[in-house]
Amino acid sequence: MRPAIALCAPSATAPCSSLYRLEIKPDTPQLAEASLILPQGRDGEMWLHAQGAAQGLAPQIVRPHCDEHALLEQEARWLKPAGCRRVDWQIRFDVAQFGREDPARHRSLYFPDRSWWLLSAATSLLRPPDDGQAHLAVNASVLGGGEPVEGAWPLPDSGAAPAFFAIGNAAGTTVGVQRVRVTHVADSPATVWRMGLIALQRRAIAWLAEVMRVKSQERLLVVWLGMDRTVGKISDASGDRSFISCYRPGDARGSTVSLMMLAHEQFHQLAALDYQASHPAWYGESLAQFYALRAMMRLGSHPREVQALHRRFIDAARPLEAGLLDWQRRYEAGDAAAYPQFHTQGATFWHQLDALLRLASSGRYGLDQDLPALLGTATAEASPLPMALRRQWREMAGPAVDALIQRYLGSA
Ligand SMILES: [Zn+2]
Repeated sequence: MRPAIALCAPSATAPCSSLYRLEIKPDTPQLAEASLILPQGRDGEMWLHAQGAAQGLAPQIVRPHCDEHALLEQEARWLKPAGCRRVDWQIRFDVAQFGREDPARHRSLYFPDRSWWLLSAATSLLRPPDDGQAHLAVNASVLGGGEPVEGAWPLPDSGAAPAFFAIGNAAGTTVGVQRVRVTHVADSPATVWRMGLIALQRRAIAWLAEVMRVKSQERLLVVWLGMDRTVGKISDASGDRSFISCYRPGDARGSTVSLMMLAHEQFHQLAALDYQASHPAWYGESLAQFYALRAMMRLGSHPREVQALHRRFIDAARPLEAGLLDWQRRYEAGDAAAYPQFHTQGATFWHQLDALLRLASSGRYGLDQDLPALLGTATAEASPLPMALRRQWREMAGPAVDALIQRYLGSA
């Protein structure tokens, strides 16, 4: 289970975790006032940073200060002096250009047509190290992921995936799927509605929640941004319980890619709800991609594009340069070529294993039955797959299972 949302009330005068306050000003919509109120015991000198700086995302933070003293800045970090427990700054919201926003940039944006704001925590909030249980309070209506406590919204730990919030007249639509409620906000709700994206997302998450046996109650946020072909490749931005997805009206390939990305991120989000077992990146990424491709095959409405995209990831004939465990080591050593292998070679591994199990059981048994155990059992380099499942697979499909594991993972 997730830890309790808050150990103490975020509205208390002496909060026990960080409280962020955001004051939106309709008269100056591009500049909002932000403050961080640190809990007792955190008054020492410390570096604050925008979470996205490590990924090269430009901060939208203007003039952070304690009382009237500007904080010393060094390489997108700001030094909070000892004795200061309240830091104030301004957040610079870019005016959203319809069709020209790339979600991967994680920008905080202002949408003048309906007067709403997209707050991106990664570029706009100053976080101290080890900032757990933090909350955000805003002087306007907010839509986000998770459950607010006394009007303050939970923020993921400063080391976790970031968060997005839709503020003001965002005109969200909330759709319930089992115990998960998803709020949708769009730059052009009429277009997103016409393209059937909300219904499609609902079917994708319903299938994933069923196959993953998700039982938790949760609230997620999806923000839809239209993106012209000229702006760049279809992209997304995934937060802890919030997500930005882009769409391209009239683009069959773009719609298929965006469905696959959405399913991939929602697999991660749903997995985080009910399964706390730790896994190396190759494992979580390859499973997410395998199930995203499955969701796309079931729900994609452009068969040619669906097939082509499936082939791009799942290809049993592709020569293998290294095993997944080796790619994992390279990934940990900072090799940028490793991560995409988790999505291609990794998804191909699960696909092949699923095919072996189905063949051996005349179609009665596949990876779906084992997904809860795959997600619920911790794995590591020494034991890359759950031992009990390996035994069971071997009994069912024979030595071909070991040969497959040896070939794709590089370990017997
Ligand atoms: Zn992923």
